[in-house]
Amino acid sequence: MVAEILVNEYGLEPIEVKPLVGYANKNYLIVTKSGRYIFKTYLNESETLELLEAENETLTFLETTDFGEFPRPVPFTDGTMLKVLPLDDGPRICRMLSFVPGEFLGDVEQTEQTVASLGTFLAKLDKTLLPYSNTVLRARQSNWDLQYFTLNKKFMDDIEPVSNRNLVRYFFMQYDIHVLPLLSGLRKSVIHADANEWNVMVMRGKVSGLIDFGDLAHSHLINELAIACAYVCYDKEDPLPLAKTLVKAYHDVLPLEEREITVLYYLIAARLCTSVCNSAHAKKADPTNVYAQSSEELAWQMLHKWLRIHPLKLENMLRETLGMTTKSEASEEEIKSIRHQHISPILSISYHRPIHMKGAAFQYMYDAHGNTFLDAYNNIPHVGHSHPKVVEAGQRQMAVLNTNTRYLYEHLNSYAERLLNKFPAPLNRVFFVNSGSAASDLAIRMAYAHTQKNRLLVMEHGYHGNSQIGIDISDYKFSNPKGQGQRDYILKTQLPDTYRGKHTQNDGSAGEVYASEAMESFSKHRGAIAAFITEPIVGCGGQVPLAKGYLKPMYEAIRSQGGVCISDEVQTGFGRLGAVFWGFEQQEVVPDMVVLGKPMGNGHPMAAVVTTSEIAASFAKGVEFFSSFGGNPVSCAIGMAVLDVIEEEALQENAKIVGDYYKKLVRELQADHASIGDVRGSGLFLGIDIVKHGSKVPNTQLAQVLKNELRNRHILVSTDGPADNVIKSKPPLCFTKNNVEEVVETMSLILKSQDCQ
Ligand code: PMP
Repeated sequence: MVAEILVNEYGLEPIEVKPLVGYANKNYLIVTKSGRYIFKTYLNESETLELLEAENETLTFLETTDFGEFPRPVPFTDGTMLKVLPLDDGPRICRMLSFVPGEFLGDVEQTEQTVASLGTFLAKLDKTLLPYSNTVLRARQSNWDLQYFTLNKKFMDDIEPVSNRNLVRYFFMQYDIHVLPLLSGLRKSVIHADANEWNVMVMRGKVSGLIDFGDLAHSHLINELAIACAYVCYDKEDPLPLAKTLVKAYHDVLPLEEREITVLYYLIAARLCTSVCNSAHAKKADPTNVYAQSSEELAWQMLHKWLRIHPLKLENMLRETLGMTTKSEASEEEIKSIRHQHISPILSISYHRPIHMKGAAFQYMYDAHGNTFLDAYNNIPHVGHSHPKVVEAGQRQMAVLNTNTRYLYEHLNSYAERLLNKFPAPLNRVFFVNSGSAASDLAIRMAYAHTQKNRLLVMEHGYHGNSQIGIDISDYKFSNPKGQGQRDYILKTQLPDTYRGKHTQNDGSAGEVYASEAMESFSKHRGAIAAFITEPIVGCGGQVPLAKGYLKPMYEAIRSQGGVCISDEVQTGFGRLGAVFWGFEQQEVVPDMVVLGKPMGNGHPMAAVVTTSEIAASFAKGVEFFSSFGGNPVSCAIGMAVLDVIEEEALQENAKIVGDYYKKLVRELQADHASIGDVRGSGLFLGIDIVKHGSKVPNTQLAQVLKNELRNRHILVSTDGPADNVIKSKPPLCFTKNNVEEVVETMSLILKSQDCQ
């Protein structure tokens, strides 16, 4: 059929007609005695016909150029360029193009010279096209055109797994924030808009031609470069040097504007997102369409890599290369001195060299100078910094209704139900507040109301909050040399620590002994204890897990004398421990009250007390309980999104897998370094106890060196414990095995450099 058309309509004698693998169209390579051609056929749609006319017009406009080869439209014998002709599967639009010689960029080594020649080539092309205009192209709205990037949002739900979908959602969010406001100030022109490695032709190491003008667009000029950059970089270990080469070569021919450099990072991400959105959609529509999937894997790799690159790092690198002034921020010293004009130094600042933070995404944080930090420390952004699902839930609800619990709204009911479903049956009432401190304070008030007793049993080194009651029950604060001391109504019990404590066997027997010793020492207060509060793993004590088997006898003893048991899950809750959703499950107990905070809102201030209907009923006999912000619809929407993400991204499972791996690698490091005394904790809630060579004596100085050296190498951890010698690591739950390897390898280098084998 095709051969007949060639003879009848073009007057050609084909020697060979070879079908080509195409995205959607049926195309053929035609070999004749006089040369090679590409014969293209398309679905017979009026919109396609219009676009092909525009494409042919543009290619004809380019025929006068002399810097490279483009396909030239070949006329039918009657002089026309496009015709609808009957083919095997019905009438199709047909056209012929000249063959552009050369090797595909995808088939040759991409040296600096080749990449530079691509920049030069695209700049020459775009410069040629600056005066050219076409009304069809102006009117065209394609989801592959980056100015219409947001059209691709509709494909986002086709992306699996959900964690990848949320990465794309994050970049959409960044586009809305950083690019949309600048869009109207960016230059527009007709651009090729698809300089991928299979559309760029190379001869003798230099770009010599460009094919496939199917994505031609009247779009922002910078999109040409963003698209080329995405493809040049997406299979490279370090994308930045080649991005620099490409942009510089382009700029030397067609100078870029500063604002174009500002948006480039986000537009490169946008192109990669467009690619994965369309691949996911195509895969869903036709799982056998392998062509649509070919570049997908590389685009994903690059998106994950791109997240680690601080947008400012790319921007300043390019600004410097192009001779523009680089962006700079106030120094840490300046910020600190202004801070201290208003804020008391009693609020401490981490690290010898404080960090001026500008942004954060998932497990990465970005400072003011273009550095990216791997966050191995912050547990408040539980599902990841700036998680788009959480951010969007808050933004949407904030724009619709934010009020208080004295009105009826469904969010309160639905979130309360969803949260309580995560607890064993007796824990069926929830009170919402805004901080862990307010929650532990409220828990104590409720314990008083329910038991009518007045003593509290607290854990050695425990921390529960900054309110007066919070300090009263926090040994970590009241026993500090500068602290208020222990109130007379407070009873403190020794930490059941199986590493540094007096009973070290962790088979359950030490826990029982610790419990019986505790009850023995407070036997004279039997009947007076209203509540016993502890964390399942004592964070400020240096990430010390309560000895196995400890809580069961303790809870029995407290209850038998009329008190209630409170588990502070502010640090340990919401799946962080991996094997369990709540820390108390590790000890096979069910508390009477649970205090929640930090991760609950992923950084949005929300907290809660979860308790039994009996305790709630006792509390309800007193004065009204009201919290202005607790349980507001915005908080409920955010809390719901956090639970969604934990489930959809299987983050509890990830905490288990990555946490176990983390512990294993640190234990291997321990085998080489006698300065690591103990590695403890569960899931992504770990403590590394730094000691004096081979002893259990805390080595505070070395722990501080480790923390600060990790910071200097862009990894965030903290230290805690009574001697401040325990490295605390409790990263966002999206932490990966690669992240773990990076932390442990860096720790190893630091320990070696400290000469402490
Ligand atoms: N309980 C524990 C175990 C905590 O770690 C904290 C905070 N570090 C709190 C309660 C108090 O929470 P907030 O700072 O939100 O008041």
